[in-house]
Amino acid sequence: MRKRHWKYHVTRLSIGIVLTLLIGWWLGELVLLSAAFLLGYLTWQFYNAIRLFRWLQSWHSDPPESFGMWSEIFDRITALQKQNIKRNRQYQSVIDDFEGMADAFPDATLVIDSHDIIRWFNDSAVKLLSLKVPADQGQAVTNLLREPAFADWLAVQSKIQSRLEIPCPADDNITLQISAVRFRKNQRLLILRDVTDVQNLERMRRDLVANVSHELRTPLTVLLGYLEMLKAQPDKPDPQAIRRMLKQARQMHALLEDLLELSRLQESDSHDDIAEVDMPALLAQLKEQADDVGQGVHKLRFDIEPNLNMRGTEADLGSAFQNLIVNAIRYTPAQGSIEVSWRETDDGLIFGVKDSGVGIPHRDIPRITERFYRVGSDRNRQSGGTGLGLAIVKHVLNSHDARLEISSALGEGSEFRCIFPLKRKIHAQSGV
Ligand code: ADP
Repeated sequence: MRKRHWKYHVTRLSIGIVLTLLIGWWLGELVLLSAAFLLGYLTWQFYNAIRLFRWLQSWHSDPPESFGMWSEIFDRITALQKQNIKRNRQYQSVIDDFEGMADAFPDATLVIDSHDIIRWFNDSAVKLLSLKVPADQGQAVTNLLREPAFADWLAVQSKIQSRLEIPCPADDNITLQISAVRFRKNQRLLILRDVTDVQNLERMRRDLVANVSHELRTPLTVLLGYLEMLKAQPDKPDPQAIRRMLKQARQMHALLEDLLELSRLQESDSHDDIAEVDMPALLAQLKEQADDVGQGVHKLRFDIEPNLNMRGTEADLGSAFQNLIVNAIRYTPAQGSIEVSWRETDDGLIFGVKDSGVGIPHRDIPRITERFYRVGSDRNRQSGGTGLGLAIVKHVLNSHDARLEISSALGEGSEFRCIFPLKRKIHAQSGV
């Protein structure tokens, strides 16, 4: 039907009114005819309004037949309705594409709200976590993933942005790595990935390193023993060659010991063996060892807060702190100063080692805790280090929820601070 401007309808109505008035005047029945016209017009409008109302109630039926202005109103509503249906189909196809894509995604993906209630999940989540559709929609995610570490992680994840590994609730042999992304206002996208293969490979690599180190240790110990014996003999054939062999064998021995220590730390559960560590006593032991290693060529000072103990694994902490102290001795020339401290601050419990040694170039600082990372190969060869000391420190700190802060300036010295959370603090009873 042809679309007409509203002015056309107004003009038609005006002509109708004028004609009615003229005929009424001509017949001498102006009032009667005007009233009849008005009544007829109102009845027509009311009749069509009711038809519109009925049609809108049963939206999917065909529009009522009409003419004039009402025919156009019905046509325009029909056009709007068709446009709407077309747009809805387009939206639906975008939603279908997205759902198809999300279902094809190999990682289990869940959307949770601010109360940790599951709002949506994909097909992989159904398979990997044995979720039920739609019963599990609207459930708290902590009811389905009951691992206590998961609830703890979820509570702090938005602040620390970490990843978590937990066994799959449907199959203990599968390890899931969970990460979360915040989106919209308070929603989170949880992504659960099966990392069993990666973990198995990592375990195989660790086992290989540990086994090889272990197998090499015994023959090397025998070799070292014979070399020490040869060195002690007065009529040894080539003293310089024996000295060199001994140095290299000791270096290899230290490397094997560090490799074994690292794999022991990786194997042990961080929550194993957690007990009160008598820090002043541990640090007194480390001071004795430091005096032996340094042989009095440095100004070595220990500033230890008495009665300040912490919860942890004594052997691991001892190994980490010893590495930091030995590094300070190694990389500080004779007469340099080394300060070891243990104190409580608002930030946490801090074990610090500060030296006036060679320092570390700024660009190397972020990488020096990597295994075998060397600041300068010459410096390392002379020092006799293994390149694993700080990797051990970092591992021990991670398992004690602690962080390592390093500040250093080349030629001026370095400071290493191990910062433990205050919740690990234990106040030792003095005199006990
Ligand atoms: P290494 O056994 O070779 O010392 P580490 O992992 O303990 O290995 O240290 C890695 C590197 O960091 C070392 O090669 C050294 O160059 C640097 N480094 C560590 N501690 C210090 C320090 N106190 N002063 C200067 N450099 C240091």
